[in-house]
Amino acid sequence: MIRYALRCKEGHDFESWFASADAYDALSAKRLVSCAVCGVEDVSKALMAPKVAPRAAPTEMERKIAELRRKVEAEATYVGPRFAAEARAIHEAGESRPIYGEANAAEARELIADGIPVAPLPFLPKARTN
Ligand SMILES: [Zn+2]
Repeated sequence: MIRYALRCKEGHDFESWFASADAYDALSAKRLVSCAVCGVEDVSKALMAPKVAPRAAPTEMERKIAELRRKVEAEATYVGPRFAAEARAIHEAGESRPIYGEANAAEARELIADGIPVAPLPFLPKARTN
């Protein structure tokens, strides 16, 4: 047995069981499939859409990353690829101004070696200045 979702020319949706796909085709060709609602014999298979799973709730980790991102974006200044130079300038001026941006591994190592506190962020910046 096979179940088809069907639609008549009036737009009624209904379902019907057939012995097989071939049986449906044979009955349909002879106009022996009629609408369960209005009885019209002009019926075709309805277009089906896959059921889309609801978006999964964010995990605890995703939630924490989103929270950190909001905090960083609200409180720190994005300096893009000038991060290493800016961090060094702030450090040398004795300031503590929060910034975030991009640094390569060598730049990050140099900053840490010079006692400038930096930390990797678990996300990529939304906006790029270049
Ligand atoms: Zn109908």
